Amino acid sequence: MQMDSRRRPPKSSRTTSSNDGGPLHLHHKQLAPSVDDRSLSPTPKASDALPLPLYLTNAIFFTLFFSVAYYLLHRWRDKIRNSTPLHVVTFAEIAAIVSLMASFIYLLGFFGIDFVQSFITRPSHDAWDLEDTANPNYLINEDHRLVTCPPPANTPPIPKIPNPEPIITPLASVEDEEIVKSVTDGTLPSYSLESKLGDCKRAAVIRREALQRITGRSLEGLPIEGFDYDSVLGQCCEMPVGYVQIPVGIAGPLLLNGMEYMVPMATTEGCLVASTNRGCKAMYASGGATSVLLADGMTRAPVVRFETAKRASELKLFLEEPDNFDTLSIVFNRSSRFARLQGIKCSMAGKNLYMRFKCSTGDAMGMNMVSKGVQNVLDFLQSDFHDMEVIGISGNFCSDKKPAAVNWIEGRGKSVVCEAIIKEEIVKKVLKTSVASLVELNMLKNLAGSAVAGALGGFNAHASNIVSAVFIATGQDPAQNIESSHCITMMEAVNNGKDLHVSVTMPSIEVGTVGGGTQLASQSACLNLLGVKGASKESPGSNSRLLASIVAGSVLAGELSLMAAIAQGQLVKSHMKYNRSSRDISKAASS
Ligand code: ADP
Repeated sequence: MQMDSRRRPPKSSRTTSSNDGGPLHLHHKQLAPSVDDRSLSPTPKASDALPLPLYLTNAIFFTLFFSVAYYLLHRWRDKIRNSTPLHVVTFAEIAAIVSLMASFIYLLGFFGIDFVQSFITRPSHDAWDLEDTANPNYLINEDHRLVTCPPPANTPPIPKIPNPEPIITPLASVEDEEIVKSVTDGTLPSYSLESKLGDCKRAAVIRREALQRITGRSLEGLPIEGFDYDSVLGQCCEMPVGYVQIPVGIAGPLLLNGMEYMVPMATTEGCLVASTNRGCKAMYASGGATSVLLADGMTRAPVVRFETAKRASELKLFLEEPDNFDTLSIVFNRSSRFARLQGIKCSMAGKNLYMRFKCSTGDAMGMNMVSKGVQNVLDFLQSDFHDMEVIGISGNFCSDKKPAAVNWIEGRGKSVVCEAIIKEEIVKKVLKTSVASLVELNMLKNLAGSAVAGALGGFNAHASNIVSAVFIATGQDPAQNIESSHCITMMEAVNNGKDLHVSVTMPSIEVGTVGGGTQLASQSACLNLLGVKGASKESPGSNSRLLASIVAGSVLAGELSLMAAIAQGQLVKSHMKYNRSSRDISKAASS
């Protein structure tokens, strides 16, 4: 982003010293001059009109304005009384008019409407606006504007960081060196490197070097070698400069529905894999877990507006009329051979209508697929509802990547329940606690405690830990961990109070085995380990449904183990053992 802001050559002739941070800061000043800038600026101001103190200048111009205005009004009244034509003016009257105008301009400047200043600064603002709309990356540049507003008056001054020495790493060729220079001096946009060079790896190397030189910060430690940059182009990541390494650990075997799975978990949280592994062990020794898929449908909810609430309600009734479903689903399903409309749920806010479309999406997580189907239906509806104004293809009633009761209650993606009965001796031997302690803790922590906290779908110990780790390992969208981690964990003593019945109910697990990050080499290897790589040929959708069940099974293992650790008072002890290495972290300063 910083490189983008440097791309634009400065329009103003104003100069900055090198410790201003170079062109980047110049850009900030052009958009919104700071208080400091104004005091340093040579731009003329209204108060500079007389070489006198500000209060005297003000007094003179105020007096002049009102006395001249009073004089001219009197002259005007006399002329009307004496029937003298208004355009016949004396020299004194001309002088009065000129004085009135001068003092008026001064007063405008005093009240902040400084003509001189606004004329000087306006052209550069207009130039930026024009460039922004012409530039395909204007959204990114909009962000710059947001973060570059001048600070409020009472904000303490930000200490100036000395400009670091640029880091220069020699490049493979003189030509590459030239390209890096073009990026750093702003003549070649960083985002265009891939299309200009036709070589994604080379583009990433050059961008990374330019970034280091611009920021003066080293990227040593962020690997660049050993990654297929072609595989992310136009699909997974823009403007790459390397990749982050996350270790993948294995928990399992997870015995689920009679099958064994070794579960890959990408995490940097010590204890997490070990703990999930212990849960898997307890489940395995007790005969494994059983899962049931309750629902499978991705949602998208556009928002449309009408002139009246009555008209909006007419569309609601039309969409909810069972006789219309067949027509609507034919239109919707044209989007893909895997998209199958399941239903439309509507909600209104005044004259605005929110339509939550739900459809199955095969092995894809399905956001693209459902969005295309929704667009088909909106186009179709427009012919009968001409007055329908489409405000947005997503109106947040979907609800994607935000905590929302609609997902918790209605479900989104895959809704799964998973259960196991853990034998009394396994609770003692493997989990080192008792059934009664677990049941009591679950009631007071996961149910009552979460109610006290006003939780929304968070009636569990740490479902999101397992969901995130499996999501990252298998190329899911990590942002969807928000709703995918909705989970209620139940624990109950069964078999005359001897054994433990434990279950997790997760209404909105959003996963896919095709599309997005799932096709990248590492992520696809993890899917392969689970036997759910890519699209299922025999039964489209079965791979992604199985993945959702594995996620729920792993969450069940994680819940068991963490709850046991808390019940037994082991949590802090084990974290100190696995989470804290003895390395001296004070050495890890930024460079
Ligand atoms: P998403 O909708 O999750 O964003 P994409 O649209 O990126 O996913 O990827 C889905 C693509 O994969 C579609 O073009 C679809 O036709 C194709 N595809 C192939 N096999 C399957 C399958 N079994 N299930 C779903 N999609 C499949």
